[in-house]
Amino acid sequence: MEFAAYVNGEKAGILAEEFDLSAANVMAVEPLPPVVTADDAVGSKDGKKQNGRKIVLGRNVHTECFEVTEPDANDDFTGDKEAYMGSVLARYRQILMERTMHQIGYPYNLDFDYGALAQFQHFSINNLGDPFIESGYGVHSRQFEIGVLDWFARLWEIEKNEYWGYVTNCGTEGNLHGILLGREAFPDGILYASRESHYSVYKAARMYRMECVKIDCLISGEIDCADFKVKLLANKDKPAIINVNLGTTVKGAVDDLDLVIRTLEESGFTHDRFYIHCDGASFGLCLPFVKRAPKITFKKPIGSVSVSGHKFVGSPMPCGVQITRMKHINALSRNVEYLASKDATIMGSRNGHASIFLWYTLNRKGYKGFQKEVQKCLRNAHYLKDGLRDAGISAMLNELSCTVVFERPRDEEFVRRWQLICEGNIAHAVAMPNITVEKLDDFLNELIEKRSTWYLDGQFPCIAADVGNENCVCALHK
Ligand SMILES: *Cc1c(COP(=O)(O)O)cnc(C)c1O
Repeated sequence: MEFAAYVNGEKAGILAEEFDLSAANVMAVEPLPPVVTADDAVGSKDGKKQNGRKIVLGRNVHTECFEVTEPDANDDFTGDKEAYMGSVLARYRQILMERTMHQIGYPYNLDFDYGALAQFQHFSINNLGDPFIESGYGVHSRQFEIGVLDWFARLWEIEKNEYWGYVTNCGTEGNLHGILLGREAFPDGILYASRESHYSVYKAARMYRMECVKIDCLISGEIDCADFKVKLLANKDKPAIINVNLGTTVKGAVDDLDLVIRTLEESGFTHDRFYIHCDGASFGLCLPFVKRAPKITFKKPIGSVSVSGHKFVGSPMPCGVQITRMKHINALSRNVEYLASKDATIMGSRNGHASIFLWYTLNRKGYKGFQKEVQKCLRNAHYLKDGLRDAGISAMLNELSCTVVFERPRDEEFVRRWQLICEGNIAHAVAMPNITVEKLDDFLNELIEKRSTWYLDGQFPCIAADVGNENCVCALHK
């Protein structure tokens, strides 16, 4: 078979004549890797295979792959390949619809309609560089991006001329950026983060080679400020960079920002010796609309706040928002002649579509719309927790959260079907705006029915260590 590529009858330079595609398919010639036994697999604390699902390091799994194949010479003529690809895409769409229907574990709002924005899919919209300094690349959406940033700045009470921010690729990027700002402000600072902080916070510590101190958590998942104080006092000579969680990933716990600030002050840290980054990826946008929630505002001594755009807001692609103070960004910013803009972001090219999607939703819902959605989600979270408890299943719901924590289902197929997030003995479900009472009923009924076959001996698991005695209804604690 001849693999050289031709353009208008001329041999094209991209694929050299001697380029051998069969060599690219090394999978076929490589000896098969050794069989991985359960003991090699990670995924649980003791490295054992966990409920039939193992995570294998060092070997990528290719079992569910839509292969990319070379077009046949006569494909243009027969249209066979076009038809084949069409059928793959149609099948994939079916899978997406099914998987969307049974998604209750990840905090993603899957309910949105961006049909009006389909007209932009033909454009390569890229906001590379600083949002506030137009680059040489003209196909951008900075007008939308800055509108979105102004909306968040108003939410978190910082003046237009005092803030800086950008639309990120995800909550992780916001954390990487916020912690970097803290590190630039205090090059010898220590990063403090609670044990239940998102893994991206520890990733930042590794990437930036920062000294990092882990703080214990309360049963609720909130940072334990008594432990925080002990660790601050042991490191009084170095400035503090703190990650504060506005909703932890697993338990949805909201750290008490005021108590964190008071603890810093009581430990002798003046405002010029600490930097607080607020990780609001999961619940940061909801907090302002929850009664009794700690107020997140730049009137308090915080350095930055970030959120994810594809979680509570909902969007077809991951995105997020990062807001900080102008004074912090100057330390990070570099002029780049090639951009004709400034480099102050983590990424280079930035998704310009995301800004338009966010702008579109914020305009449609407004502060009032989000308030309504948050209230609905809190109601639904209570409905789920009560439903679980009524069925004799241990469950916890933090006061300021839509995340319901409960006993880990024993059947891994059930976990996979509902895409539950599990950690140790617990699982959680998140009442996002797209989760209706009907869906919760489906979930509850299925769980109750399946569970009745899991514990035939009547010995239901105790999860008091994770959710506290008062939330556990095992034989000992009920
Ligand atoms: C989801 C999450 C993140 C990371 O956000 P991504 O958008 O997934 O990168 C960070 N922190 C918390 C608390 C989260 O829940």
